[in-house]
Amino acid sequence: MTDEFCECSQHGEQPITFVCKHITATPRPNTIGFVSYLSEGEDDLRDAWCEECDAYLDQHGGHWIEGRVEVPDGINILCAECYRLREEDALREDRRMIRHE
Ligand SMILES: [Zn+2]
Ligand SMILES: [Zn+2]
Repeated sequence: MTDEFCECSQHGEQPITFVCKHITATPRPNTIGFVSYLSEGEDDLRDAWCEECDAYLDQHGGHWIEGRVEVPDGINILCAECYRLREEDALREDRRMIRHE
């Protein structure tokens, strides 16, 4: 997670996180999967992507490599609280997946 903040319409000023555009395009509480690398703590919200993006990464070597292999449609900024809610939606549907680096 970075030290940058955004102004969320629901949660006010929040630290920013990054997720693929498909996740932000999906209205809650629907989920299209939530995949990220393992975080190192409560406040370490890693970049996350959906199942479709995960399949894409798989076809391109299996790893997100900054600047080289990235999710197909880019990423969006999401506030930290919204990130946690999205993650919970996916957990509930058993579609939260942790990737190993
Ligand atoms: Zn995606
Ligand atoms: Zn928010």
